[in-house]
Amino acid sequence: MKRKILLTNDDGINSAGLWAAYEALSPIAEVTVVAPATQQSAVGRSISIFEPIRANEIVQNGVRSYAVGGKPTDSVIIGLYALALGPDLVVSGINIGENLSYESIMTSGTVGAAFEAANQGTPALAFSLQVEDQGDKFDDPQFYRQSFADAKKVVQEVTRTFLDRKFPPGADVINVNIPSLVRGGYEVTRLSDKLFRTGVERRLDPRGRPYFWINGPLVDDAEEGTDVHAVRKGNISITPITLDCTARTAHGELQHLFKSEVGWARRS
Ligand code: MN
Repeated sequence: MKRKILLTNDDGINSAGLWAAYEALSPIAEVTVVAPATQQSAVGRSISIFEPIRANEIVQNGVRSYAVGGKPTDSVIIGLYALALGPDLVVSGINIGENLSYESIMTSGTVGAAFEAANQGTPALAFSLQVEDQGDKFDDPQFYRQSFADAKKVVQEVTRTFLDRKFPPGADVINVNIPSLVRGGYEVTRLSDKLFRTGVERRLDPRGRPYFWINGPLVDDAEEGTDVHAVRKGNISITPITLDCTARTAHGELQHLFKSEVGWARRS
């Protein structure tokens, strides 16, 4: 029996990256596309709870798909609970632009969708493709022209690996980043701390009032073994991610500082 994949992204249902992933996955699984109707990059795992969510059944590139008027996370929830797709895997991507470091994965809509799927009990893979020109990340991803040839091979190989095999213990999401030009091979990595040298530009609007724009160049490199370093070297970075953010090393000291005390509420 063919395995089922729910395919989503954050660049929107028109993105060339999403359809490159579809081409890579449709030969090996039954793929249903449930993706945001519009560009939703950097919304992280945000969720629509104060607006109605529309999921329009459309035919895109000859494929029956669902365009969701919402976030990547909404798309996953609609796919799992409204459409009841029951996927074996959720795949998110291929994102236009790398999602490296914990700075980046905590804001990424691509990885956010994968977090949601994993938290709902479906293992999830996130795929992102490095872009050389940062402007490409923010252009209309429908018109992104870089070759997806290597990225498609990676999406197929990595996904195939997990169609019939569980993730290693402790891994809820597997975050895969493909360099724009693959010069090496796979490298299993840990998250770096940052992808950007964060800055803010102050400009004036047409009425002379200041506004701010969050901006900043990419970091040049990071330590050996990190996702940032792997992609800078031209390797395909594979990072296992866990959802549980508890800092276990801090438990003992915090327990010492905040001793369990019966009757705290009655203390004067
Ligand atoms: Mn994106």
